[in-house]
Amino acid sequence: MTTELPSVCPLDCPDTCSLSVTVDDDRVVKVRGSDANPFTRGVLCNKVARYFPDFAHGENRVRYPRKRVGAKGEGAFERITWDEAIDIVHDRFRAAIDRYGPEAIMPLNYAGPHGMLMYASMDLRFFHKLGASLVNRRALCGGIKAEAYAGTYGDAPGMRPEQVANADLIVAWGNNVTFSNLHLMPQINEARRGRGAKVVVVDPRRVKVAEQADLHLALRPGTDVVLAFAVANELERTGGLDRDFISAHVKGFEPFMERARRFPVEKAADICGLPAADIRRFADLYRDTDRAIISIGNGLERNRNGGSGVRAVLALPALAGKFGRRGTGLVAGAGNAFPKTPARLGRPDLVPEGTRTINILDVGRHLTAEDIDPPLKALFVYNHNPVIVHPDQNLIRRGFEREDVFIVGCDVAMTDSLMYADVILPACTHFEYADLYPAYGHHHLQRAEPVIPPVGDSLPNTEIFRRLAERFGFDDPIFRASDAELMDDAVDGSDPRMKGIKGSELPLATALPMEFGGEEAIPFHNVFPGTPSGKVELDSAYLAEAYDEPVASYRPLRATHPLVLITPSSDKRITSTFGGLRWSDETPPLEMHPDDAAARGLRDGQWVRVWNERGEAHLPLAVTDEVRPGVCCSEKGAWLRTSDNMQTVSALAPATHADLCEGACFNDTRVEVAPCEVFAKAAE
Ligand code: SF4
Repeated sequence: MTTELPSVCPLDCPDTCSLSVTVDDDRVVKVRGSDANPFTRGVLCNKVARYFPDFAHGENRVRYPRKRVGAKGEGAFERITWDEAIDIVHDRFRAAIDRYGPEAIMPLNYAGPHGMLMYASMDLRFFHKLGASLVNRRALCGGIKAEAYAGTYGDAPGMRPEQVANADLIVAWGNNVTFSNLHLMPQINEARRGRGAKVVVVDPRRVKVAEQADLHLALRPGTDVVLAFAVANELERTGGLDRDFISAHVKGFEPFMERARRFPVEKAADICGLPAADIRRFADLYRDTDRAIISIGNGLERNRNGGSGVRAVLALPALAGKFGRRGTGLVAGAGNAFPKTPARLGRPDLVPEGTRTINILDVGRHLTAEDIDPPLKALFVYNHNPVIVHPDQNLIRRGFEREDVFIVGCDVAMTDSLMYADVILPACTHFEYADLYPAYGHHHLQRAEPVIPPVGDSLPNTEIFRRLAERFGFDDPIFRASDAELMDDAVDGSDPRMKGIKGSELPLATALPMEFGGEEAIPFHNVFPGTPSGKVELDSAYLAEAYDEPVASYRPLRATHPLVLITPSSDKRITSTFGGLRWSDETPPLEMHPDDAAARGLRDGQWVRVWNERGEAHLPLAVTDEVRPGVCCSEKGAWLRTSDNMQTVSALAPATHADLCEGACFNDTRVEVAPCEVFAKAAE
């Protein structure tokens, strides 16, 4: 019998769409957008519409627990029972603890599913009680931007993104809206059609939204902070600063401007690789438009200056006083709109005092160099595909190949990372479990129930960690909490935003809008900075203490190779999710400007080798002026099956740390490109 049931998209995407799932005989046969969430309004992206049924039922789905019977990476496994799998994990973890202590164990998790229960709930309770190493997973993506926002605006929510429709100027800064924040596009179009709004896009690449923009600033990657400084300078020079707002609501104006004044427009134009006239035009547009909104994506955080870049952009509306009414301000900080209670959900109070925190970016180095004490001897990989997603791919693969490091791999799909696991645990897809969904791109809270039973022997993450906790003898009732109880622990049901509804009782097929004093969030009207000073902190007390970075700054990068390689998201995958499906076998091209191709004697369509000191990837060349000279581009998230030498673009990225959150610097990748002899020979 065919039924249509409500659900929510759990993927690592700001939009968190409400879904309507057609189920036939316990199989997902079709997924479409539903109207339950008024922000996503029945629309979802093509990749989800196309891939989700295969994601749940396709040949790459992990259905049963397995143990390794061949060499690491070889992919030889045999089926075992859940009891056997739990016993193996218990015995190997216990052996590591007995010899090295619990910190030799590390959960290696990221953000596969974004529901609060599967993302971080019972799993954290388990690892916290165990005393395992803590992990700074936000370093991989999003943490830099989150820390920049926290330092500048504290825990204040930003505006509801629907207010973009009320703006007369929309700036998409490092935000490839069409692929990475799809539902902002209708708001932008509404503002353009209804109000004649202008659009400015800041992105090294001519992304789709830039094709319709009134101004596209194709700056050099890593120079966003300089551009924002130059705009601040121009605002000051041309009378665009709101002195009253600054004096009432901004801390650190002078230290910030002292840095900004070092980058007048001509100098900034030189560093950013932009025409000075374009920077002036942008500053004038911003100054002269009363209702101006800046939407900040993650593109600008992925470099050594990422934190400073985001902070300097966040400063602009405060300098120009563009707050306090609908249609002006920042699209950022949506995650703060929800009354989350992570201390109740993940129980950090269980963490033994002094437990170390490991940066997720450093795992490859720690595994190969054994440069920490105790060394890492057991990894639990879940919600994550580190072999594809981490920088310095060859290093992490070498680490995963170590026979003396026990690896548990828990996932929905047979990923490249799971190929190195000693034990594989089958996880449920979001179609098979209940969860609670806030968002990081809008202000609506949603709940979903399973729409099909678990496929094969798969289990929700929460149940997997309940079973592990029991096997380890953790008898506190918190380790037996049901999913409904975890939902109640996840959000504060007494907060007025919940309107008297507990997390577990949120009605399905609807979305609860977060309100502040009975209204949508409008910064400096009904929500205010949650910083120590209560002001917008351009000289941040928090960032000074946490990172010794009180004020934004610019650090140039010494080039090792002549071309910058950027690796943005695409319309084919959500980071690496869907990379195992048959639709994803194609090797992504390397986009290169015609001038750079001509200088190397390269032609469109030929295979090229892209290399640096860390590795070498072989890609088909696409010669296009969509990228600026000096910059190459290839999409992230492709799996090893797309490669002839077991290396994707992640092999080229440095595992260096940015200025905030010790975050990832993917866009600091420097490469050279030449014809690929391997493919040239094969083609002959
Ligand atoms: S990936 Fe994003 S846009 Fe696509 S369905 Fe999921 S939440 Fe919506």
